[in-house]
Amino acid sequence: MHEMSLAESVLQIIEESARAQNFRRVRCVTLEIGQLAAVEPDAMRFCFDAVTHGSIAEGAQLEIIETPGEGCCEACGKTVALQEQYGLCPQCGSPRLQIVAGNQMRVKDLEVE
Ligand SMILES: [Zn+2]
Repeated sequence: MHEMSLAESVLQIIEESARAQNFRRVRCVTLEIGQLAAVEPDAMRFCFDAVTHGSIAEGAQLEIIETPGEGCCEACGKTVALQEQYGLCPQCGSPRLQIVAGNQMRVKDLEVE
């Protein structure tokens, strides 16, 4: 389950910004998760609760925004919507798709006090 290590890196980001911005409590964390990042939102919530236990983000609400996947086809040059990591180009059927969006996770927003 790689959600656990992702949750840990989210906590790291939170703690770093807490040091930089001097806040002591996190009320809400907004995460942007790409559809191609293979992250289960439910698993992510579970792991987030587990790793933030006892930290400044304990009890923080987790908002998850799923962003759509996008690929660029090397064969026909079109940019296409991607539902899965190893899809075929809907325009020409080529499997040579470079993922250009939707395979990452990032902390979009922190609501702190
Ligand atoms: Zn194509």
